[in-house]
Parts: sequence; C-alpha cells; structure tokens
Amino acid sequence: MDQKIIDKYKKSGEIAKTVREEGKSMVKPGTKIIDIAEQVEKRTRELGGIPAWPLNISINEIAAHYSPNKGDETTIKENDLVKLDVGVSFEGYIADTACTVALSEEDKILVEATDKALQEAIKLVKPGIDVNEIATKIEETIKNYNLNPITNLTGHGLERFLVHAEPRVPNYNNDYHYKLQEGQTIAIEPFATRGRNFIKEKDDDRALTYSLMQEKPCRTKEAREIIEKFRDREGMPFSDRWLDISRIKLRLALKELTDRNCLGVHRILKGDSKISHSEHTLLVLKNPIVTTK
Ligand code: MN
Repeated sequence: MDQKIIDKYKKSGEIAKTVREEGKSMVKPGTKIIDIAEQVEKRTRELGGIPAWPLNISINEIAAHYSPNKGDETTIKENDLVKLDVGVSFEGYIADTACTVALSEEDKILVEATDKALQEAIKLVKPGIDVNEIATKIEETIKNYNLNPITNLTGHGLERFLVHAEPRVPNYNNDYHYKLQEGQTIAIEPFATRGRNFIKEKDDDRALTYSLMQEKPCRTKEAREIIEKFRDREGMPFSDRWLDISRIKLRLALKELTDRNCLGVHRILKGDSKISHSEHTLLVLKNPIVTTK
C-alpha cells in the first residue's frame, strides 16, 4: 500500500476516533440522539473529513442502521444500551468504527464481550491469515461470556468510497475461507447478545439513510436537487437531515427517486434482545495498523 494512501487512512481513522469518543461522552439519559448525530457530523467536518454515512445510533435490540431523521425526538433513556457507528471519509478513504455504551450495570458484560472479541481478533490480523480463524476467535471469545455472536452481521473489506467490499469477516466459525492480502483494508465488528443469534430487517419498511446509486431524469425539482447535492458522495449514504427541503416535498422526492431505482435504502436491523457492537478499521500490512484506535 502506497504511503500516501496509508496516511489518508490514518487521517480518516484519527478523525473517526476523536468524534467517536466525543459522541460517546454525550450518551446520557435525557439526551436527544439527533443532537449527538449533528454534533459528531459537524466535528467530522471541522476536523477535515466528511461523514462516510450519517451517524448511526442504534439502541437496545436494534443492532445497526438507525440514524435520526429530521425531527426525530428519540431520547436516550435510563438503562439503554447505546451503539454509535461512525464513518469518516478522507478523500474517499474510509474509517469505520463503533462502540457501545451500557447505561445499566447488567449490560456492561455485553460491551466487555465485544470489546474483548475485537481485541483478540485484531491480534490475529496479518497478511495470509484465513478470515475464518478470526471469525472462530470472535465466536469463542463471545461464547466465553455466555453470550451469542450475531451470525448474519459481518466485518468487511473497505475500498475507496466503498463501505462493504470483499472479503467478509464473519463473527462465527463457518465455511467461508479467505486469506487476507497485504494492502487490504478491513473492518472487524463483533456483535453480542443474550438473545437469538441473528438479526432481521425491521418490518416497518422504514429506511433512515439512503445512497444515491444512479442518476435518472426526475420530474420534481427536489429529486433533482438531491441528485445534485449528493452526486459527489459516490454512493456513500446520506441523511434527510442534510437537506433543506420541507417534509412533504422531501417525502415525494425520496419516493420518486426510490421508484426510479436511483436510491439504495439501508433498513433498520433488529434482534430480539439487547445487542452490543465494537468495531475498528485495520490496514493489513506486515505490521498491521488499527486506524481508529
Ligand atoms: Mn462496518
């Protein structure tokens, strides 16, 4: 990997780490999650990056992909288990990192389990290792806490502007084998729960973040405005909070873009019990670098 590229990954990693910790310090009962999202995204820009996706703040049984929309009144409650999933892009080189805050004593073990699983997994990363060894270590570590790893959420490769690239880095021993190559960028992200070991898309059909996947001629001015505004994100997700369009016109524009297959939607992913999540981004080098630590 070219040193210039390593430096760009280090830059996005440094910003992601900083804003993750700042966001984490805001997680308290009574705080509106929209305030955390806006602060983290604002700080990302101030530090010279751009959000690779709108801040995800997923609470309790929701594993991932919750991000407050315009007007979201969700407030953190006592005993919530709060996950922040931060994405930062620096010239398209992405840092992906997540942490969990347990506001109740009894959930601290969940956080301990995914933090420990992530730590143990990171120790194994080097060029040539089979991702199934990493996956197996994650499963063993989480099961040692008498918890279950979520099996249908995985870590993943990262490429320029692309959040989910090959390979997958699963969270349990399975028959997917892939040897990591020097110069790859990967995110490792264990999830743990006391409940069932898989998540489902929430069935209310609601998506909170979108990706512009292709452009087509559109009828409404607002749909054209959305294309114009997010064209240079190269498919990285966006939030309706980043648009200054009234709610009704916004809904029509998003519908038109969805109907025309211009948008990818990221639906809320939910389990049946509280879920914790820890994640770092790594450069697979002879001496691997954890960019977000
Ligand atoms: Mn990730």
